[in-house]
Amino acid sequence: MRASFEDFKFNRQILNAIADAGYEEPTPIQQKAISPILAGQDLMGVAQTGTGKTAAYVLPIIMQLKYAQGNDARALILSPTRELAMQIEENIKLFAKYTDLRTVVLYGGLGPKTQKEALARGVDILVATPGRFLDLYLDGDIVTKSLKFLVMDEADKMMDMGFVGKIHRILEVVPRRRQNLLFSATMSELVHKIAGDFLKFPVVVEVMPQATPANSISQFLYRVPNNKTKINLLHYLLGNTEQITRLIVFCKTKVVADNLFKFLSRKYGEDNVRVIHANKGQNTRINSINAFKEGNIRVLVATDVAARGLDVSEVSHVINFDVPIVIEDYVHRIGRTGRAQHTGVAITFYNEAEAYYVKKIERLIRQEIPVSEIPEDVVVEATPYEERQAMAREIDMQKRKENPEYKGAFHEKKASNTKAKEKTKPKKNTTKGNRKFGRKK
Ligand code: AMP
Repeated sequence: MRASFEDFKFNRQILNAIADAGYEEPTPIQQKAISPILAGQDLMGVAQTGTGKTAAYVLPIIMQLKYAQGNDARALILSPTRELAMQIEENIKLFAKYTDLRTVVLYGGLGPKTQKEALARGVDILVATPGRFLDLYLDGDIVTKSLKFLVMDEADKMMDMGFVGKIHRILEVVPRRRQNLLFSATMSELVHKIAGDFLKFPVVVEVMPQATPANSISQFLYRVPNNKTKINLLHYLLGNTEQITRLIVFCKTKVVADNLFKFLSRKYGEDNVRVIHANKGQNTRINSINAFKEGNIRVLVATDVAARGLDVSEVSHVINFDVPIVIEDYVHRIGRTGRAQHTGVAITFYNEAEAYYVKKIERLIRQEIPVSEIPEDVVVEATPYEERQAMAREIDMQKRKENPEYKGAFHEKKASNTKAKEKTKPKKNTTKGNRKFGRKK
């Protein structure tokens, strides 16, 4: 039997918000964690980002707080980084939309005035990084006596970032009688120690990262400098009509999917290609999928959302035109091939900015994916200025995510970067005027 959110003791407001979010069934961590949290137990969840751990604690907290009350926070969620704090806030907003619960998010890196004003207006759920929480607490802006829930998210990262002292300080200033939840991707000795200080007889729930891909799937990477070259490479690979018999091309966004579809149907004829994404009507989607299943079309272009649960056997190849940002989607994507005793091939194109996610995927699936050389005959185009800027910005964002202290070198760096690239360009030229983009790892 499929698990359902209706199985939990949630009220209508929450169930409706879950339905609006498009969540159909609880993820494994949600299945394991929601009931004990609703029952008032302390809990330690060992789960990575991407498993749905945020909703696993946000939903039961919203359920218990129900509606706005008084001025002082009743739940405190501690996050190591500003990015995570903002994501948590988004999750709360999503699920508390049919309630009047007030959320305030506190993080450093900007003046405290707006945050102080928000606190003064009254708050039910506080999401905060440890340093800023303590600063505002010491300024007298936060009253802790009403706190019923304390959540520590990404506890391992908190320890890595040296927050242990601040955490102990916070534990001293919050009331003793409260429900405590701790989430961590890994269990280091330090995390164990803080869990011991923090949790009382916790229920421990653990979810493993997504199952590793089936052995019947061969995986390859191509490091491709830009979109135009990705299209050239896709076109080249499609020339292999003997092996690539039924192909799904995955794209991150509807726009990329639509553009690719246009290109492919121009090259290979409208009858050979279909595209599915969330903006296509249900009927069009079903027709496309059926035509693909029956083998009437060779290429299906799809976004992740549209491809959820797509059950098509005998897909010979999956090509990831870009790297999924929700890295678990990688396992979903490539799982479309190599099904039911068939062998399959999964090829992923990635550019400089996507290398970050490739590393994460390799960590998730605990495999190193081999990198193939771009074939000689594929024209490697120069990267347009706009695309280069977008990639540099993305890389900056990644660095900031890894290290909140990182100020962002994008603006200073871009000029020198451009120069450096220009200098190395001629080296990539090959005799036929094709520039080759060599293996780099
Ligand atoms: P998290 O691990 O909390 O960062 O969640 C990872 C992603 O999964 C987020 O984009 C969530 O919106 C999404 N998500 C969480 N729970 C579910 C669910 N039950 N069904 C579908 N998506 C979900």
